Amino acid sequence: MSDRILLIEDETPIADSVAYSLKSEGFSVEVSPDGLSGLTQFRTFAPDLIILDLMLPKLSGLDFCRIVRKESNVPIIMLTAKTEEVDRIVGLELGADDYVPKPFSIRELLARVRAVLRRTEGAKSDDLRASLQVGGILLDLSRRRVTVGEKIVHLPLKQFELLRVLMMNKGRVMTREELFKRVWDADATYDTGTLDVHIRWLREKVESDPSNPQYIRTVRGVGYRIASDGEV
Ligand code: CA
Repeated sequence: MSDRILLIEDETPIADSVAYSLKSEGFSVEVSPDGLSGLTQFRTFAPDLIILDLMLPKLSGLDFCRIVRKESNVPIIMLTAKTEEVDRIVGLELGADDYVPKPFSIRELLARVRAVLRRTEGAKSDDLRASLQVGGILLDLSRRRVTVGEKIVHLPLKQFELLRVLMMNKGRVMTREELFKRVWDADATYDTGTLDVHIRWLREKVESDPSNPQYIRTVRGVGYRIASDGEV
Protein backbone atom coordinates (compact mmCIF):
# COMPACT_ATOMS: atom_id res chain seq x y z
CA MET A 1 0.00 0.00 0.00
CA SER A 2 1.41 3.39 -0.90
CA ASP A 3 2.02 5.90 1.87
CA ARG A 4 -0.77 8.39 2.36
CA ILE A 5 0.03 12.07 2.58
CA LEU A 6 -2.33 14.82 3.66
CA LEU A 7 -1.34 18.22 2.30
CA ILE A 8 -2.91 21.25 3.99
CA GLU A 9 -2.13 24.39 2.01
CA ASP A 10 -4.34 27.35 1.06
CA GLU A 11 -2.22 28.64 -1.82
CA THR A 12 -3.62 26.74 -4.77
CA PRO A 13 -0.54 26.91 -7.06
CA ILE A 14 1.68 25.46 -4.30
CA ALA A 15 -0.92 22.86 -3.32
CA ASP A 16 -1.36 21.78 -6.94
CA SER A 17 2.32 21.44 -7.76
CA VAL A 18 3.20 19.66 -4.50
CA ALA A 19 0.25 17.26 -4.86
CA TYR A 20 1.19 16.57 -8.46
CA SER A 21 4.81 15.79 -7.56
CA LEU A 22 3.87 13.58 -4.62
CA LYS A 23 1.42 11.62 -6.76
CA SER A 24 3.97 11.11 -9.49
CA GLU A 25 6.30 9.71 -6.81
CA GLY A 26 3.64 7.11 -6.02
CA PHE A 27 2.14 8.63 -2.88
CA SER A 28 -1.56 8.67 -2.26
CA VAL A 29 -2.44 12.34 -1.66
CA GLU A 30 -5.36 14.33 -0.27
CA VAL A 31 -5.37 18.13 -0.23
CA SER A 32 -7.19 20.47 2.17
CA PRO A 33 -7.34 24.24 1.61
CA ASP A 34 -7.82 25.21 5.27
CA GLY A 35 -7.16 23.96 8.80
CA LEU A 36 -10.69 22.85 9.62
CA SER A 37 -11.23 20.68 6.57
CA GLY A 38 -7.65 19.47 7.13
CA LEU A 39 -8.72 18.21 10.55
CA THR A 40 -11.66 16.34 9.04
CA GLN A 41 -9.41 14.86 6.36
CA PHE A 42 -6.87 13.83 9.00
CA ARG A 43 -9.58 11.88 10.82
CA THR A 44 -11.07 10.17 7.78
CA PHE A 45 -8.02 9.69 5.53
CA ALA A 46 -5.68 8.60 8.38
CA PRO A 47 -2.51 9.80 6.64
CA ASP A 48 1.00 8.42 7.20
CA LEU A 49 2.37 11.95 7.03
CA ILE A 50 0.98 15.50 7.03
CA ILE A 51 2.46 18.46 5.17
CA LEU A 52 1.11 21.49 6.95
CA ASP A 53 1.22 25.12 5.93
CA LEU A 54 1.38 27.35 9.02
CA MET A 55 -0.72 30.29 7.85
CA LEU A 56 -4.10 28.80 7.09
CA PRO A 57 -7.67 30.07 7.08
CA LYS A 58 -10.25 28.84 9.64
CA LEU A 59 -7.78 26.98 11.86
CA SER A 60 -4.10 27.93 12.00
CA GLY A 61 -1.35 25.40 11.45
CA LEU A 62 -0.32 25.74 15.10
CA ASP A 63 -3.83 25.05 16.39
CA PHE A 64 -4.09 22.16 13.96
CA CYS A 65 -0.84 20.74 15.33
CA ARG A 66 -2.02 21.14 18.91
CA ILE A 67 -5.26 19.23 18.24
CA VAL A 68 -3.69 16.47 16.14
CA ARG A 69 -0.97 15.79 18.70
CA LYS A 70 -3.62 14.94 21.29
CA GLU A 71 -4.87 12.20 18.99
CA SER A 72 -1.95 10.95 16.97
CA ASN A 73 1.80 10.66 16.48
CA VAL A 74 1.49 11.04 12.72
CA PRO A 75 4.60 12.82 11.39
CA ILE A 76 4.05 16.47 10.47
CA ILE A 77 6.25 18.57 8.18
CA MET A 78 5.53 22.29 8.40
CA LEU A 79 5.83 24.74 5.53
CA THR A 80 6.86 28.11 6.88
CA ALA A 81 7.57 31.54 5.46
CA LYS A 82 10.69 33.36 6.68
CA THR A 83 8.58 35.82 8.65
CA GLU A 84 7.08 32.95 10.64
CA GLU A 85 10.28 32.07 12.50
CA VAL A 86 8.63 32.26 15.94
CA ASP A 87 5.69 30.15 14.81
CA ARG A 88 8.11 27.59 13.44
CA ILE A 89 9.72 27.19 16.86
CA VAL A 90 6.32 26.90 18.51
CA GLY A 91 5.35 24.36 15.86
CA LEU A 92 8.35 22.20 16.62
CA GLU A 93 7.55 22.48 20.32
CA LEU A 94 4.01 21.39 19.60
CA GLY A 95 5.30 18.21 18.03
CA ALA A 96 5.91 18.92 14.34
CA ASP A 97 8.73 16.67 13.10
CA ASP A 98 10.43 18.91 10.59
CA TYR A 99 9.95 22.12 8.65
CA VAL A 100 10.68 23.35 5.17
CA PRO A 101 11.06 27.11 4.68
CA LYS A 102 9.21 28.77 1.80
CA PRO A 103 10.06 29.18 -0.99
CA PHE A 104 11.22 25.59 -1.32
CA SER A 105 12.10 23.31 -4.16
CA ILE A 106 9.89 20.28 -4.68
CA ARG A 107 13.02 18.15 -4.66
CA GLU A 108 13.92 19.39 -1.18
CA LEU A 109 10.42 18.77 0.13
CA LEU A 110 10.39 15.24 -1.32
CA ALA A 111 13.73 14.52 0.36
CA ARG A 112 12.32 15.62 3.74
CA VAL A 113 9.16 13.56 3.22
CA ARG A 114 11.20 10.44 2.50
CA ALA A 115 13.53 11.07 5.45
CA VAL A 116 10.65 11.52 7.90
CA LEU A 117 8.82 8.45 6.57
CA ARG A 118 12.01 6.37 6.83
CA ARG A 119 12.40 7.45 10.44
CA THR A 120 8.85 6.48 11.35
CA GLU A 121 9.04 3.19 9.42
CA GLY A 122 12.24 2.42 11.34
CA ALA A 123 10.58 3.20 14.65
CA LYS A 124 7.72 0.89 13.69
CA SER A 125 9.91 -2.12 12.98
CA ASP A 126 11.81 -1.52 16.24
CA ASP A 127 8.62 -1.98 18.15
CA LEU A 128 7.63 -5.62 18.16
CA ARG A 129 4.34 -4.79 19.76
CA ALA A 130 3.63 -2.17 17.12
CA SER A 131 0.26 -3.71 16.42
CA LEU A 132 -2.34 -5.65 18.32
CA GLN A 133 -5.04 -7.77 16.80
CA VAL A 134 -8.25 -9.38 17.98
CA GLY A 135 -10.41 -10.93 15.29
CA GLY A 136 -11.01 -8.22 12.68
CA ILE A 137 -9.76 -5.36 14.87
CA LEU A 138 -6.22 -4.24 14.19
CA LEU A 139 -4.67 -1.57 16.36
CA ASP A 140 -1.50 -0.03 14.95
CA LEU A 141 0.29 1.57 17.90
CA SER A 142 2.89 3.56 16.03
CA ARG A 143 0.39 5.18 13.69
CA ARG A 144 -2.34 5.22 16.33
CA ARG A 145 -4.61 3.77 13.70
CA VAL A 146 -7.45 1.33 14.22
CA THR A 147 -8.98 -0.71 11.45
CA VAL A 148 -12.01 -2.95 11.71
CA GLY A 149 -11.97 -5.27 8.73
CA GLU A 150 -10.99 -3.01 5.83
CA LYS A 151 -12.36 0.13 7.43
CA ILE A 152 -10.25 2.75 9.20
CA VAL A 153 -11.99 3.84 12.39
CA HIS A 154 -11.15 7.15 13.99
CA LEU A 155 -11.04 6.95 17.76
CA PRO A 156 -10.57 9.93 20.06
CA LEU A 157 -7.71 9.55 22.53
CA LYS A 158 -9.60 7.99 25.46
CA GLN A 159 -11.40 5.46 23.28
CA PHE A 160 -8.12 4.54 21.62
CA GLU A 161 -6.46 4.08 25.02
CA LEU A 162 -9.38 2.04 26.29
CA LEU A 163 -9.17 -0.29 23.32
CA ARG A 164 -5.39 -0.47 23.62
CA VAL A 165 -5.49 -1.45 27.31
CA LEU A 166 -8.19 -4.07 26.66
CA MET A 167 -6.26 -5.52 23.71
CA MET A 168 -2.95 -5.60 25.60
CA ASN A 169 -4.77 -7.64 28.25
CA LYS A 170 -6.40 -10.08 25.89
CA GLY A 171 -7.99 -13.00 27.70
CA ARG A 172 -8.14 -11.17 31.01
CA VAL A 173 -11.09 -9.62 32.79
CA MET A 174 -10.35 -6.03 33.73
CA THR A 175 -12.25 -4.52 36.63
CA ARG A 176 -13.94 -1.20 35.95
CA GLU A 177 -11.68 0.56 38.42
CA GLU A 178 -8.50 -0.93 36.96
CA LEU A 179 -9.52 0.07 33.45
CA PHE A 180 -10.38 3.56 34.57
CA LYS A 181 -7.04 4.02 36.33
CA ARG A 182 -5.13 2.77 33.29
CA VAL A 183 -6.88 5.05 30.81
CA TRP A 184 -7.49 8.18 32.82
CA ASP A 185 -5.02 10.00 35.00
CA ALA A 186 -4.17 7.80 37.99
CA ASP A 187 -5.14 10.70 40.25
CA ALA A 188 -8.51 11.22 38.60
CA THR A 189 -11.50 10.36 40.75
CA TYR A 190 -12.74 6.94 39.72
CA ASP A 191 -15.97 7.42 37.84
CA THR A 192 -17.74 4.37 36.53
CA GLY A 193 -20.26 6.52 34.59
CA THR A 194 -17.48 8.08 32.50
CA LEU A 195 -15.97 4.67 31.84
CA ASP A 196 -19.27 3.09 30.81
CA VAL A 197 -20.06 5.96 28.44
CA HIS A 198 -16.67 5.59 26.75
CA ILE A 199 -17.18 1.84 26.46
CA ARG A 200 -20.51 2.52 24.76
CA TRP A 201 -18.93 4.99 22.31
CA LEU A 202 -16.13 2.56 21.59
CA ARG A 203 -18.61 -0.23 20.90
CA GLU A 204 -20.47 2.02 18.48
CA LYS A 205 -17.21 2.39 16.54
CA VAL A 206 -15.91 -1.17 16.48
CA GLU A 207 -18.88 -3.49 16.94
CA SER A 208 -21.17 -4.43 14.07
CA ASP A 209 -24.03 -4.68 16.60
CA PRO A 210 -23.16 -2.47 19.61
CA SER A 211 -26.10 -3.79 21.66
CA ASN A 212 -24.80 -7.33 21.23
CA PRO A 213 -21.03 -6.80 21.36
CA GLN A 214 -18.74 -9.49 20.00
CA TYR A 215 -15.46 -7.87 20.99
CA ILE A 216 -15.90 -5.81 24.12
CA ARG A 217 -17.70 -8.11 26.53
CA THR A 218 -19.29 -7.03 29.78
CA VAL A 219 -18.45 -9.21 32.74
CA ARG A 220 -21.40 -8.57 34.98
CA GLY A 221 -20.56 -7.08 38.35
CA VAL A 222 -16.85 -6.97 37.56
CA GLY A 223 -15.86 -5.07 34.45
CA TYR A 224 -14.94 -5.74 30.84
CA ARG A 225 -12.78 -7.98 28.76
CA ILE A 226 -11.91 -8.17 25.10
CA ALA A 227 -12.92 -11.39 23.36
CA SER A 228 -10.18 -13.95 22.80
CA ASP A 229 -9.31 -14.97 19.24
CA GLY A 230 -11.42 -18.15 19.37
CA GLU A 231 -14.56 -16.20 20.21
CA VAL A 232 -14.65 -13.85 17.23
CA1 CA B 1 -0.80 29.91 3.77
